[in-house]
Amino acid sequence: MSTAVTAPLLRITDLSVAYGVPRRGVGLGTGAALRGASLEVHPGEIVGIIGETGSGKTTLARATVGLTTPAGGTIEFDGRDLTSLRGRDLRDFRRQGRIQLVFQDPLRSLDPDLTVARLVGEPLEVAGGLDATARGERTERALREVGLDPGAVRDRRPGELSGGQRQRVSLARAIVTEPRLLICDEPVSALDVSNRNLVLNLLDRLRRDLGVAVVIIAHDLSSLAGIGDRVAVFYRSRLVEQGPLREVLTRPAHPYTALLVASAPSLGERSAIRPADVRVDRGTAGAADPGRCVFADRCRFAFADCAIQPPQLEVGERWSAACHLAARWSGEATDNTHTPPAHTGTRAKGER
Ligand code: SF4
Repeated sequence: MSTAVTAPLLRITDLSVAYGVPRRGVGLGTGAALRGASLEVHPGEIVGIIGETGSGKTTLARATVGLTTPAGGTIEFDGRDLTSLRGRDLRDFRRQGRIQLVFQDPLRSLDPDLTVARLVGEPLEVAGGLDATARGERTERALREVGLDPGAVRDRRPGELSGGQRQRVSLARAIVTEPRLLICDEPVSALDVSNRNLVLNLLDRLRRDLGVAVVIIAHDLSSLAGIGDRVAVFYRSRLVEQGPLREVLTRPAHPYTALLVASAPSLGERSAIRPADVRVDRGTAGAADPGRCVFADRCRFAFADCAIQPPQLEVGERWSAACHLAARWSGEATDNTHTPPAHTGTRAKGER
């Protein structure tokens, strides 16, 4: 979808989060869960946040919903700086449910003793302002929105539902407050193929019918199959590439993204970076030396400049990558016969 003329719904600027230090302004040192991430989500967009465990993607989500306090940076939602909210203002904002988080495992996140009607209606009770009749109507509407028959599931408990039904109950609970942003943490990773497609199609329909923006946090690009507009790729606490999904899949501008694309061959088309070029051993130098490019220890293209972490370099409209060679990768001929650039300096560990 085209979002070029809309203002961002969510604007995250230079966000950093320190491990185990829930205060602002204390510095990161080497203990960063997230370093200097900036990204935007526009109304009605589906944005994938992709990365392995510990890459910073879940930290970003938790900071956005106020579960983690940033060490630096800002989070603006609908023009309002959430990082400046305190006390009652913060509690009021949370109660309104304008941003909702959908957890990976509904069996653990849903109270097993509550019925579906109570589970879905609970956020409305917390928000206040509606009587019991209005809450009941909104609850039934939310269940229908996610494809569940209220009469069939209203009185059942999570343990009496299938995995797909439970995930849909989680979604109904999330949309009942009519949020503008849904953040879904691995929403389909525990589901079989048919339920996975069902939930992804449902998210796509919610953004079309209700205009909700959706952030999907996942390990692999295939979780965005067919529905993502944009993607942001994280590696070792850093945002390494973000851009339109189709372009990123076709011409990844960062070697780590190319590695992910190569891992999901049904999604990738043609890349200037050949899978063989980025199939290297895991290393630790990026973590040990925070000034160095975070991917240098795994990258066959590392050269002298990579001793310094590159900033996000623009390679297209709302498309950037933290690689000194980003423009080369995204601008090269998009066929698999392309030869990568020659090294101009030191080689990364493991390079032959
Ligand atoms: S900046 Fe250098 S080491 Fe880092 S990904 Fe780019 S080429 Fe590889």
